[in-house]
This record gives sequence, structure tokens and C-alpha cells, in this order.
Amino acid sequence: MKIIDAHTHLGQWGYPFNVETNADKLIALMNEFNVEKSFCSYIDNMLVEDAVKKYPGRIIGQAWEDPYKGQEAIDDLRYHVKELGFKSMKLHPLINGFLPYDPMVFPLIEEARSLNIPVFMHSGHAPYSLPWQIAQLAEDFPDVRFVMVHMGHGHGIYIQAALDVAKKLPNVYLETSGMPMANKIKEAFDTLGDDRVMYGSDIPFHDPSVELQRMKVAGLTDAQMQKLLYDNAANFC
Ligand SMILES: [Zn+2]
Repeated sequence: MKIIDAHTHLGQWGYPFNVETNADKLIALMNEFNVEKSFCSYIDNMLVEDAVKKYPGRIIGQAWEDPYKGQEAIDDLRYHVKELGFKSMKLHPLINGFLPYDPMVFPLIEEARSLNIPVFMHSGHAPYSLPWQIAQLAEDFPDVRFVMVHMGHGHGIYIQAALDVAKKLPNVYLETSGMPMANKIKEAFDTLGDDRVMYGSDIPFHDPSVELQRMKVAGLTDAQMQKLLYDNAANFC
């Protein structure tokens, strides 16, 4: 089965992460695990630009924007989508240190709406990226698709909250990387239908062999696996 990985990165990630990769290593891993395309972001969009040019159609650019940069971030998003073919925006409230519902975020979401691109947002860490906080934003922009990356991450209460939030808000989608409970993937399909959960690895933070194993034991039908590993992310690139 062909796979789309909805969540990868390039570059150096220092303390406290201490992981790194580059485009060639990412492609090698993709080949090993039959991954056709990877959504890819980095704090510095230039690195992703180079990778997209080197591996067109395989590395799908995701523009990382920092709302503290104001108009510069809005212009940068438009440039990457319009001129370079990036397909989505990445927001990281934990790393960039902002609340999802801070009004300074709104102009970026409005720009994503006018560009008709989805917004991928890190989730799972207090005080900046809890599922309920992302819901505050998603509720006010019902015509923008939000992908709650990590679907609550490693904390059982946040994972359940990700499911609860997505159940209430049809514009919220879930991505699986780093979320340890395979049963919650099945539960998400049962609760949300077959179209709103997508596989991601978060390379280089996690290894795809581990991430994919969790997909395999989630108890999904073959048709649901096809949606999880490919079709649902294909709608976002
Ligand atoms: Zn990530």
C-alpha cells in the first residue's frame, strides 16, 4: 500500500530534542517504507524550499509561520503558496510560544482561508497547544481546515480531548504521530467517520517503523487503512 506521511521535518533540532535529518535521509526513509509523499516543514522555510526543488512531488512544502512576525509572516505564507507551491501552513504554538486563540494569529488564518490551504497545528503541550485551545480558534474559522497534529500527543486526557473536539467541529482533522494509543485511532474512525484521521511520522523525532506499527495494530479495516495511510492526506496536498 502506498503511503503519504502528513508530518515530517528537516534540519537541526537542538536541545531539548537533539535530532536532525536532511532531504536525502528523509527520501531514503520514505523509500524504505513505501512512502510516496511527505508533508515537510522546518522553522526556516528556506531549507524546505531546497528540498521541494530537489525532490518535486515527493517532498510537499508546508510553510512554517510565526505569528509574532505579523505582516512579514502573512507575506511569507502567500509567497510560499503562490510562488513555490507549498500546500499548507504549519503553526507551532509550543516552539514559537503563543496561544492558538491570540488575536495576533487571526490574520494568518484569514490568509490561509483566502489561499484555501489547511492549517496544521501542533497539539499536546500545556500551556500553549491543548486541544481545547485549538478548538477556540477552529470554532471561529469554520471554513478553514485545521489538522490537530499528534491528536493530543502522549497524554490520555488530551488525546480524548482531541477526539471530543473533532467530534464537535467538522473542520478539525487529526494526525497520528507520537500518539501512543492504537485503540484511539480506531475510536477516532468510529467517532468521526473515515475521512478525518491521517498518518504522520514526525521524522526525525520518531521512527516510521514504530509509527507504522501502531497503525497496523489499530484494528482498522483495509478500506480504513487506505484512508488513514493515503487518501485522507491526499486531500491536503
Ligand atoms: Zn513535528
